[in-house]
Parts: sequence; structure tokens; C-alpha cells
Amino acid sequence: MTEDEQLEPEEITPKRWRCCHCGATGVDSYGDTCHHCHGLGFC
Ligand SMILES: [Zn+2]
Ligand SMILES: [Zn+2]
Repeated sequence: MTEDEQLEPEEITPKRWRCCHCGATGVDSYGDTCHHCHGLGFC
């Protein structure tokens, strides 16, 4: 038997939502990086 039965705790990934400001584009209506999500598209 090997000892690689380590049970990794399930990482709870934070819920991500489309940025309500840029619509998940990461860019605001002016073509600049969304200040709300910093260009990620999620917040
Ligand atoms: Zn947002
Ligand atoms: Zn945004």
C-alpha cells in the first residue's frame, strides 16, 4: 500500500460574478480598464 491517500480539502473557490460595471469584458465603455474589476471582468 502506498501512502498517497492524502485527502486534499476541497478548496472553496470564491464565487465570481460578471462585473456589473463592464459586463465581464474588463473594459469600460470608454475603452479603459474597468476600475471596478481591474480588467478581470469579474467582481
Ligand atoms: Zn462589477
Ligand atoms: Zn468590470
